[in-house]
Amino acid sequence: MADSRETDWVSRFADEVISEAERRAPGRPIVCASGLSPSGPIHLGNLREIMTPHLVADEIRRRGHEVVHLLSWDDYDRFRRVPAGIDPSWAEHIGKPLTAVPAPPGSPYATWAEHFKAPFVEALAELGVEVHAISQTEQYTSGAYREQILLAVRERAKIDAVLSRYRTKQQGEPAREGEYFPYKPYCELCGRDLTTVTAYDDETTELAYTCECGFGETVRLAEHDKGKLVWKVDWPMRWAHEGVIFEPSGVDHHSPGSAWVVGGQIVREVFGGEQPIGPMYAFVGITGMAKMSSSKGDVPTPSDALRIMEAPVLRWLYARRKPAQSFKIAFDHEIQRLYDEWDALGRKVESGQAQPAELAAYTRAVSTAAGPLPATPHPVAYRTLASVLDITTGHAEQTLRILRDLDGVRSLDEVRPRLDRAQRWVAEYLPADQRTRVRESPDHELLGSLSDGEREALRLLADGLDNWTLDGLTELVYGVPKIQAGLPPDAKATPELKAAQREFFALLYKLLVGRDTGPRLPTLLMAVGADQVRKLVGR
Ligand SMILES: [Zn+2]
Repeated sequence: MADSRETDWVSRFADEVISEAERRAPGRPIVCASGLSPSGPIHLGNLREIMTPHLVADEIRRRGHEVVHLLSWDDYDRFRRVPAGIDPSWAEHIGKPLTAVPAPPGSPYATWAEHFKAPFVEALAELGVEVHAISQTEQYTSGAYREQILLAVRERAKIDAVLSRYRTKQQGEPAREGEYFPYKPYCELCGRDLTTVTAYDDETTELAYTCECGFGETVRLAEHDKGKLVWKVDWPMRWAHEGVIFEPSGVDHHSPGSAWVVGGQIVREVFGGEQPIGPMYAFVGITGMAKMSSSKGDVPTPSDALRIMEAPVLRWLYARRKPAQSFKIAFDHEIQRLYDEWDALGRKVESGQAQPAELAAYTRAVSTAAGPLPATPHPVAYRTLASVLDITTGHAEQTLRILRDLDGVRSLDEVRPRLDRAQRWVAEYLPADQRTRVRESPDHELLGSLSDGEREALRLLADGLDNWTLDGLTELVYGVPKIQAGLPPDAKATPELKAAQREFFALLYKLLVGRDTGPRLPTLLMAVGADQVRKLVGR
């Protein structure tokens, strides 16, 4: 990878970022940044905020440059609203910093911010994402931004002028009262930000505020560490303070007058810095979580995805699409097709047939500059694992027996961690009405109603079960209707033959699992076992 250039979007950004860093800050570590608010569960769409700079930073690191990926936790932001499912009494905390709000009931964490950060941090570790995390609460309350805050307040007229370039273009915005002030104190008494700055003295930095709770005081801003710059000023301040060269953001930040656009002017005109290279990233959709999300009242997180798919596969989803392309993450049957695609790519890479961009995305998925991520030694197809686990209801001994017959698996550890992911998918996302239940006893009524042709087909099947391999069984189930039609085994499929095969398969599903469809037949036959198949087809 170190020699690759221009192979994919990640390489192209890495080129751009490296040359920009050499111009802006030669000899210094290259800074890529992400920002997240721990105001609630951090969902898979937010993961793009991390994966985009991660992949670029990782490419820069692979090329031997010193690089740091900052993760700014916006945990000094205000608690905005009580989400559904949380005790309504939490409303008393609205307006406090997220680090001053107690965690939801039953949480092992002390604060709201820690509660939502923790699972995300764990998922990042599993994904091989290395970040340098910064708590904005710590930054603000330690006075780290003192000079920048005083500068922003001194230059408030200039900031106001930048904002007003856009304000006039927006309709229906209420007229502001009083002077623009870019700093918001948290109330000393109630801890909330329901404050209004009523006076400020540029000479002494004396700042007077009142709070909706009735409290009011005068502080010296030069010593005050209980407040923060408003978002549109805070963000560009940090670009300048940290020397950020690359930071992407969501589409919602890119409209006229938005934080990104305004920030680009404020960082130059007020803080004397430059806007990072910042691609806009598109939406990440989810399929198959509709029922789940409405009942849980939230959207899936990276931890939810990592329960059902391996880290390299999740990394691949983010690596193979350019940031501006939206994509979907499947929690339904689509995950089986995704895994088929992933395995096909793996074989292509192994045989040296992958295109440069495919190879780049694959390499970024399975490894980082620090080394390879854990892989499944014997990657049996996910759909096969899911079918087997569905049929065996996860019974380890039976699962191993079937996988041994199917694919020569000698121990379940060979198919881990993929097996565990498939097992959770079956348990949590395969709808109950699609679960496979192998019949324990033959369906005598159905067997009694069969035509001579159907009886003959079942006899041909039972007689052919000796070739007990996946290929052998595949040939067998497709072959029975050919024999019955007087066709040779290598006969091409005609519409008539296909119809006969479909009918035969439907009959087998009914006899074996009592439904019209089920897992792929050869897999199902192997899972059921030859003796039980003979018994269920009445032979
Ligand atoms: Zn107050």
